[in-house]
Parts: sequence; structure tokens; C-alpha cells
Amino acid sequence: MKTLRVILGDQLNLGHSWFKDQDDSIIYTMMEIIPEMNYATHHVQKALAFMHAMRSFSEEIKILGHRIHYIKLSDKSNKQSFLKNISQIITKQKITHIEFQEPDEYRLDQEIKNICKKLRLNFKIVSAEHFLTSRDDLGIFFEGKKIWRMEDFYREMRRKHLILMSGKKPLGGKWNFDHDNRSKWKSNKEIPKRIKFDHDVSNLFNELKSMKVKTIGDVDTKKFNWPKNRDEALLILNQFIVNYLNDFGEFQDSMSNDNKFLFHSLISFAMNSKMINPEEVVNEVIKKLDSDLNNINSVEGFIRQIIGWREYIRGIYWNKMPGYEKSNFMKFNKKLPDFFWNAQTKMNCLNKSIKQSLETAYAHHIQRLMIIGNFMLLIETDPKWVHEWFLGIYIDAIEWVELPNVIGMSQYADGGLLATKPYVSSGSYINKMGDYCGSCKYNVKTKFEKDSCPFNVLYWNFFLSNNKLLDNPRMGIVKMQLNRMSADDQNSIKIKSRELLENIESL
Ligand code: FAD
Ligand code: SF4
Repeated sequence: MKTLRVILGDQLNLGHSWFKDQDDSIIYTMMEIIPEMNYATHHVQKALAFMHAMRSFSEEIKILGHRIHYIKLSDKSNKQSFLKNISQIITKQKITHIEFQEPDEYRLDQEIKNICKKLRLNFKIVSAEHFLTSRDDLGIFFEGKKIWRMEDFYREMRRKHLILMSGKKPLGGKWNFDHDNRSKWKSNKEIPKRIKFDHDVSNLFNELKSMKVKTIGDVDTKKFNWPKNRDEALLILNQFIVNYLNDFGEFQDSMSNDNKFLFHSLISFAMNSKMINPEEVVNEVIKKLDSDLNNINSVEGFIRQIIGWREYIRGIYWNKMPGYEKSNFMKFNKKLPDFFWNAQTKMNCLNKSIKQSLETAYAHHIQRLMIIGNFMLLIETDPKWVHEWFLGIYIDAIEWVELPNVIGMSQYADGGLLATKPYVSSGSYINKMGDYCGSCKYNVKTKFEKDSCPFNVLYWNFFLSNNKLLDNPRMGIVKMQLNRMSADDQNSIKIKSRELLENIESL
């Protein structure tokens, strides 16, 4: 029996049981193909980071003694299709058996099942050995419930895996420390410099260009800083734990003009490509917990992201696909303004967040949710365009994690399955959590002047135009504020908003 094992680009898991034993009757294959580069218009750094890490991974498993057939993007023999490339290897190598790891994207899941059907070979699909939960666990946990609260699932994960527990109670007496985690960034703290790898990826970049792969965003090809392998991913994790973890909690919702990354970990690419796994991340972070629990707000806040949000989001994806990608509860149908591709807007918060995304392929959670996603929702964008933009631009954007964050959390397009209320705000929240407004051409304190912050009227207009949202008990305060607002003010909000929406490109 001769076996072919196919490794996808986000399955760079050196610890997978596949690689424990060397066996000459097993051939591994990895391939870079145009359809995978082009199913969305990706950020150039994202395309390069995956190619770089995939090539590095193939070298590593070769060193471990495994046989690997790697197909580069520009190889003459590359048929630019999973099925055609695999068929070619099967014929040449007289393969009798084929194996895959479970893919994380619905699209690839379907493709692999089709390939298996068409090849008429014995096949096996094994676990990718990465997540703490299976695809179906979340659906089973919430069976029969209308609202799937992340908090309920997170507590169950803590109990089940005995993470931050003291017997049956949460360590520190509380399940979450969010109240300690809402500081505004005031630039009064030194932030240590980030680790740099300065990889030269010029050859990869030229290959990408020669193959006419369409990309967005910028890159310095001589100073490329996304990790190429597990060792580098571990360096990033270690640097986070030593330098940033203790401040992560307090400033996790902050925003800053001058610091793009604040105290965030920057490990999403390493995790989503499976160079490192969630269990080891959690174990390493817990080691840093003070014996007197001084930093429990940070440790708990971080672990919540990994065993709570990340696993929960994946569960939503697998329970709601296919079809979730078409959700549009608000029935919005507008396109995105051009400034999402060139950052040419006078709104400082959006300018900085979009510019940073184009330059680095990264924005932290609050920039994605409360600046970019917030604005896209307030201007009534069709969620399919929001999905397309987010899927392309970020280094960590793989559909299983991007889609529920966009459709459910950011755009309320699933009607409240994931987010119990829409994540929208006026300028005052943005002003409260960061320093963007101080250097903005718009005035965050006013609504109806020529230079008033556009978020201010758009926020109220969102509820005035969609008053079905006010039935939600979590919207009680908004409803009360609207009831107190004079009819004249409500009218002015509608008029000014219409004006802004009609002239969106000039904002
Ligand atoms: P940190 O802030 O340091 O958090 C640590 C880790 O927690 C992250 O690396 C990530 O693995 C996990 N995490 C935190 N929040 C979430 C979440 N909501 N969902 C899943 N995992 C989470 N994350 C992606 O990995 N890929 C995406 O394509 C993606 N798209 C998003 C789109 C929108 C509209 C929003 C609001 C969030 C999105 N997120 C996405 C979640 C989150 O913003 C990123 O995981 C995070 O910004 C990555 O940076 P970091 O590694 O520095 O994270
Ligand atoms: Fe953004 Fe409004 Fe603040 Fe300007 S004033 S940075 S547009 S929130």
C-alpha cells in the first residue's frame, strides 16, 4: 500500500501524529495553487506569509525524514488545481490510498469530499489535532437554545478543562474581570519593541507577481516579520508573555494613534496556520499567573479569547454553514466606499485603522469591531462586501474565524445569534477608549455642525431607521434616550445622515 497525505496551507502542525513515525510508503504533498490565492483578493503579506511558512514547513518535515512532494506556485508541472495535481502524483507514484486532515473551511471540506469521490481510491480524513472542541460540540452544547451566549460556553470550557478553577469555583472568585479591563490609552506607559525577523521574501514576491496573483496592501520584502515556522511562532508567544501579557487585560479595548499593536499578542497567524496550538498557548500563559493573582485580569482576559471566543466562533461556523455567509438580517445593500482600499478619509480613527491594515495586514480587535466594522454597519453596507473585505485584508483571515466575526459579531447580520446587540457606537465610545479624536478634523462633541463627527448622527440614525432593534431588552437605554429626544432633533439626524450617506466618499 502506498499512501498520499495532503497537507493544506493552514495545517502547519509539526506536532501532528502523522509526523511521529517516518515511513517510506507515505508521501506527503503540499501545493500552492492560483485558485487558493484568488478566491478572495488577499493582502500581499497574507499571501507571502502562507507561502513562506508552507515552504519552511515542507523543509522541516523533510529534515525529519519524511518524503514530501512540494508544488510551488510557478512550477511548470503545477496544474493549478488540487484534483489535477493530486491525480498526477497518484499516477506517477502508484498511490493506492489518500489521506487528508479535516479542513477548517466549508469550501475546502466540500472540495476534498469531491476529490475523494472522483479519485475512487481508499481515503481517510483525520483530525487536524488543533482545537479543543470538535466541529459539532458547540451545537450540541446549545441544542434547543435561541441565543448562543459565548459566556455560557466559556464557563463550561473552564470547568471541563480545569482551567483557572479552584475546585468548582472560578479562580479569583469571578468568571471574568472585564471591569478592570476598560482603560483608555493615555500614552503614559512604555511599550516594549516587537521582535523582528527581517526575512527577505523578495523572491517569493517576484514569483507571486510573475504569476499575476492580484493582491492588496503593502509589503517591505526585505523586512518581512510574520513568523515562518514554529520556532519563530514560539518566540512571538514568549515575547508576548514576558513583555505584554500583564498589560493585555487593562488595555485590551484601548486604541492608540501611535501604537498599532498596544499589548496584543499578534499570534493569530501562528495559531490559525497551526504552528502553535491553543492548549500550549493556554498552558504557557497560566504559568505567568502571579501567586497572589495580581494579574488575573490579564491572564483570564487572554484565556477567554483562546478557549472561549476562538473555539466558540469555530463552533458557530460549522453549525451554520452553508448559508451563514448569505445572512443579511438588516437587509442592507450598500457598497463600501473606496477609502477602504486607500485610507483616504479625514476621519482619523478610520484613516489610522485602514492605513495600518493596508500597511501591516493587522488591526487589533477593537479597531476591527468598533472602528471599521462599526462604520461599515452604520453606513448600511451589504454584509457580503464586509465579508469580502475582511477575508482579504488580515493576515489571520481564514473563513471559519473571519465569517462569524463579521456576520455575527460585527454586522449583526445573523439577527443576534452571536451578538446579543449590535456593536455600534457614536464617536463618544471611540473618544473614551483612545486618542484618535484629539487629532481629527471632525469634532467628536457635536452632531449637527459642518465638522461634526459622522459617527454621531449615523449612530442615532441607525436606530431611528431600524426601530425593530429597539424591542431588544439590551437596547433599553438607547430606546429611553431616543424617547427623550425632540422630534426636531430626530428629524435633523435623519436629514444629516442622508446627506452623509449620499456623500460618503468625501468624508
Ligand atoms: P489578541 O488580542 O492578542 O488575542 C489573542 C488571540 O485570541 C487571538 O490571536 C485570537 O486567536 C483569539 N481571539 C480573540 N478574539 C477572537 C475572536 N473574536 N474570534 C476568534 N479568535 C479570537 N480573528 C482571526 O483570527 N481571524 C480573522 O479573520 C478575524 N476577523 C475578525 C473580524 C472582525 C470584524 C472582528 C471584530 C474580529 C475578528 N477576529 C479575527 C478576531 C480578533 O480581532 C483577532 O483574532 C485578533 O485581533 C488577532 O490579533 P492578536 O493575535 O494580536 O489577538
Ligand atoms: Fe473618529 Fe469621530 Fe473621533 Fe474623528 S471625531 S476620530 S471620526 S470618532
